[in-house]
Amino acid sequence: MARIIIVACKRIQDVTCVSCMKCFKGMRERVGEFARYQNEPLELVALGDCGDCPGLVMPKLVLIRDLAKLLDSDFDVVHLGTCIVKATKTAKCPIDLEATARRIKEILGKEVVIGTHPW
Ligand code: SF4
Ligand code: SF4
Repeated sequence: MARIIIVACKRIQDVTCVSCMKCFKGMRERVGEFARYQNEPLELVALGDCGDCPGLVMPKLVLIRDLAKLLDSDFDVVHLGTCIVKATKTAKCPIDLEATARRIKEILGKEVVIGTHPW
């Protein structure tokens, strides 16, 4: 069982990426960055936003980790959504994906995957 959370761009989630349907479809069909879970059950523990500009993702993730512990709903992997990847490439998102992935591993001790659905 892979227990994951997805972090979305607050400016994109449910605005231009409506209702997060792309990530739900990606998870169901095990495509994009979800292909790595081809042969195992997948639990989405949380789907929340980055905390907004200018890149408040680390404090937000610490809150998510603490709440997950409180609710006995821990997770193993943090997916940085395709929305965040797009925001860094096509807009002025200040998040440094590689540096953020390293900090998540160091501070939270969780695996990190950059990206989610393939569309
Ligand atoms: S990429 Fe995924 S997490 Fe981000 S807004 Fe779209 S569906 Fe939601
Ligand atoms: S910091 Fe980046 S990912 Fe978060 S809302 Fe701003 S543009 Fe989106």
